[in-house]
Amino acid sequence: MALSGIEIFKYLPRTNCGKCGVPTCLAFAMSLAAGKAELVSCPFITAESKTKLEEASAPPIRPVTIITGGKPLKVGGETVLFRHEKRFENPPGLAITISDVMSNEEIDRRLQAVKYYTYTRVSATLRPELVALKYQSGNPGTYAALAKRAKIETEAGIILLCEDVDGFLCAAEACLDRKPILCAITESNLDLLAPIAIDLKLPVVVRSNNIDGLAGLTDRLVKLGIKDIILDSGARNVKKALSDQVALRRLALLKKFRLLGYPTIAFPGEMTDDPLKEALIASVMVAKYAGIVVLSDFRGETLFPLLVARMNLFSDPQRPQATVEGIYPINGPDENSPVAITCNFSLTYFIVSGEIENTRMPAHLLIKDTEGLSVMTAWAAGKFGADNIGGFVKKSGIDSLVKHRKIIIPGYIAQESGGLEEQLPGWEILVGPREASHILSYLKSNWPAEKDLKPSRSEAP
Ligand code: SF4
Repeated sequence: MALSGIEIFKYLPRTNCGKCGVPTCLAFAMSLAAGKAELVSCPFITAESKTKLEEASAPPIRPVTIITGGKPLKVGGETVLFRHEKRFENPPGLAITISDVMSNEEIDRRLQAVKYYTYTRVSATLRPELVALKYQSGNPGTYAALAKRAKIETEAGIILLCEDVDGFLCAAEACLDRKPILCAITESNLDLLAPIAIDLKLPVVVRSNNIDGLAGLTDRLVKLGIKDIILDSGARNVKKALSDQVALRRLALLKKFRLLGYPTIAFPGEMTDDPLKEALIASVMVAKYAGIVVLSDFRGETLFPLLVARMNLFSDPQRPQATVEGIYPINGPDENSPVAITCNFSLTYFIVSGEIENTRMPAHLLIKDTEGLSVMTAWAAGKFGADNIGGFVKKSGIDSLVKHRKIIIPGYIAQESGGLEEQLPGWEILVGPREASHILSYLKSNWPAEKDLKPSRSEAP
């Protein structure tokens, strides 16, 4: 439950010493409440106040950190029901299922898939982070060998889908430094598996077919000292899974029911045999409100849209996504290639650069920093007019990359062409299409052949 600045202020020393970087304790309290400061910045806060503040300000859904071979994956920690209220904090981890009875070739393919499906979009790396290893062989040695391979051959976090004590112990020891998730503790095996999780300091999934049962299990685990808990309502059809996810989130957030304040796990791979349907169910679970989504397999055609949907849902709705300002070469441009400019709203960048790529014509695309605003919005805000475009083009260095002096501006700011000619003497301002989809026809009919391009002044006779 987030505390207000005034509530936090009551716990601070109130000496206004300024050591935390702001002049008063009240200002520091306000910064803490806004999430712009860390409690550790005040060296004088008492241990008692610190504990109280940490307890009181803990998110209603506990964040759980999953160890991977690279950056740890944090799930949970959510504070709102709807993205527009603030933002969703931690994107759910996506897992591929691998069984220890699969053929070596199939296991190879799946382990490779974890590394293979990596995409870059809006300067972000999109990829799945987890493997879910299923114990089906009945042979702890075989299962441990699979866990070892998953640890060595991937950087993924590991979920051990195993309720057998021997199988679990062998596999956990084979990948112990990856701190595998024990999936799952149930009413019937809690006494056997919980001590192992405590001993090895592992996160656990608790499973019960009803919400009261889940609360009962988390209560017992918390009393035993296990804090990193993930909830599985046991639902394996989309309707029940969705209603459970919503109920768990609402109980944790609206009713402040701490025993259900944990991230959840969903298994779309066990809800259908149809890969497309599975992807659709997974997208529902990403939106509402799974912390981990376990898929039966990774396929590029369904995984990529899922990764993009996840990225979009977990971006901050108050901050437009922006591409870094600069010159972007597309299709291997040279000194005769067209030069076009647009804003740095990421969606605009991706659409325009994608359309230019599709023309197969080499080009230089200049991206001007408009603070993530689209062309018309940036223009209306005075961030994409003749003055600032002219200044950017001059300092961008594009004049040293091309022989000609022609630049294409978006059709929506055609009215800036006169001003730009004044700002960029010697440059010819070409007004491009309004819609990115018309770039191909525009370039084909408007970009002059190489022999017609005007040479730079330094090369002019
Ligand atoms: Fe107050 Fe602590 Fe900041 Fe000093 S360091 S002003 S005591 S909050």
